[in-house]
Amino acid sequence: MIRLTDLKLPLNHSDDELRSAILGKLSLADAELRDFSIFKRSYDARKKGNILLIYLLDLNLTADAEQRLLADKKFSNIVRPSPDTEYKFLAQAPANFPGADQQRPVIIGFGPCGILAALVMAQMGLKPIVLERGQDVRQRTKDTWGLWRERKLNTESNVQYGEGGAGTFSDGKLYSQVKDRRFLGRKVMSEFVKAGAPEEILMVSKPHIGTFKLVKMVENIRAEITRLGGEIRFNTKVETVHRVANTDDQGQITGLSLSNGEYLPTRHVVLAIGHSARDTFEMLLQQGVYIEPKPFSIGFRIEHPQSVIDKARFGEQAGHPILGAADYKLVHHCKNGRSVYSFCMCPGGTVVAATSEEGRVVTNGMSQYSRNERNANAAIVVGIEPDKDYPDHVLAGIDLQRELEALAYQLGGENYDAPAQLVGDYLRNTPSSELASVTPSYKPGVSLGDLSKALPDFANEAIREAIPAFDKQIKGFAMNDAILTGVETRTSSPICIKRGKDYQNLNTRGLYPAGEGAGYAGGILSAGIDGIKVAEAVAIDLLGLDIPI
Ligand code: FAD
Repeated sequence: MIRLTDLKLPLNHSDDELRSAILGKLSLADAELRDFSIFKRSYDARKKGNILLIYLLDLNLTADAEQRLLADKKFSNIVRPSPDTEYKFLAQAPANFPGADQQRPVIIGFGPCGILAALVMAQMGLKPIVLERGQDVRQRTKDTWGLWRERKLNTESNVQYGEGGAGTFSDGKLYSQVKDRRFLGRKVMSEFVKAGAPEEILMVSKPHIGTFKLVKMVENIRAEITRLGGEIRFNTKVETVHRVANTDDQGQITGLSLSNGEYLPTRHVVLAIGHSARDTFEMLLQQGVYIEPKPFSIGFRIEHPQSVIDKARFGEQAGHPILGAADYKLVHHCKNGRSVYSFCMCPGGTVVAATSEEGRVVTNGMSQYSRNERNANAAIVVGIEPDKDYPDHVLAGIDLQRELEALAYQLGGENYDAPAQLVGDYLRNTPSSELASVTPSYKPGVSLGDLSKALPDFANEAIREAIPAFDKQIKGFAMNDAILTGVETRTSSPICIKRGKDYQNLNTRGLYPAGEGAGYAGGILSAGIDGIKVAEAVAIDLLGLDIPI
């Protein structure tokens, strides 16, 4: 098999034209190309009048043709042997695992990181125990709707907590910019496809799954983990991580105290708790676990008609089925030294209430697989840093998040409505009193007014400079009627639970901080990849293997 990169064709081409393009590009005779498959397909929409599809293809050629092409310098930039992308397990536990001197590994949190860690450990025969503070995904869906429809927040079962983790009520975008030389992202995607995700996620360059499909998929992966000897306990919060410290303050994990009163002994704990488990962060710090503050971002959600974004990005081709609903990614470096960027853009989706704490309002975005809701939404956020913006102590970033979320709750009317403002009014610094052509999608509702009160001055200054700059790239971005809703504070974790090369916390052996909450992932795919890496690290230590990681 050889891989052909960077083959470009016009948007509206036929299957035959794709085959002819391969033959033409590589000067092959028809009989030399036995068959081919698409490894990835992306598009280049920089010229709206000439949108191109870009293919990465695996070609099955006759042996002679394959040798000839690989030896031909003319093709060395676009042709190479197809890499082996299949996942290889690093270890396999003996059938009688756990032996008398071994304890089962424990994973705290069943979001994408915990799910992949548990699945890979189960596949290696390590029979992991997963502890998840929230409910199973069906009950969790009902609890989450409780806030969106009836303003009733369940602080242990919501958008942030429960089976599937924070990514369950989301757009299910599955791309990441992490370096992935071992194709671990492919392993994550393949497991998602086995569990019911659409097969095209393996092929398109910006795949997404959407909320409904994610729910079923998560249940199927849970069933597979259980079938392989793993155990998943919902409604079970880890309240204390027991850490025995020596005089050099190097600790060892010995066990966990659970919300049901149980003590669970273990020496291997994957900490995949997400970025919203603030009480658990506090507990870890009290127990002496090494934690550092890290940068994150704050801002608003912005909503436009999807048709405005489609037109700006795709021109006459807006609505083309291959292109789907258009997305965008924007960055602006401001005069005050701050950077503003778009984040977690959800084409054809809705803005959702995403708090996990009472008396606070947090926004985020989600969509279904079809992405056919009327509005496009994205976070528009400003980067902030510990030294400059929350220098007081390790968890001061959380204090700042809480302060802004409480302010948003007050501005919204103290009933979980989100404060909102028309973009035009925000730019003119005039409070909004009436909606115009864009209907906000946030549920339970919005309260119009002066949204700038929800953020520090430097952030408003930066966002007011960035929105008109973004309008130069996406015509209509600064339109008067677009809606801003606030606040967006859970963009990433405000802390990093540092780990060493062996994936264990810098001062706590047996504790494997992982995923978004620990600062090692930013999204579903990268959290899943990180889950695989820590599963491997646990297996190596637990089984006493001499394998470099
Ligand atoms: P999480 O998914 O946060 O999972 C952590 C789990 O740990 C939770 O289920 C929590 O209940 C549990 N937990 C916490 N503390 C404890 C404890 N003490 N005991 C037991 N259990 C505990 N990313 C994308 O890539 N694409 C998207 O389209 C996308 N959209 C999003 C939309 C929304 C509304 C939200 C909220 C997030 C979205 N994200 C998206 C981000 C993505 O969901 C996260 O990056 C990802 O879920 C992080 O995975 P994780 O496993 O590290 O943590």
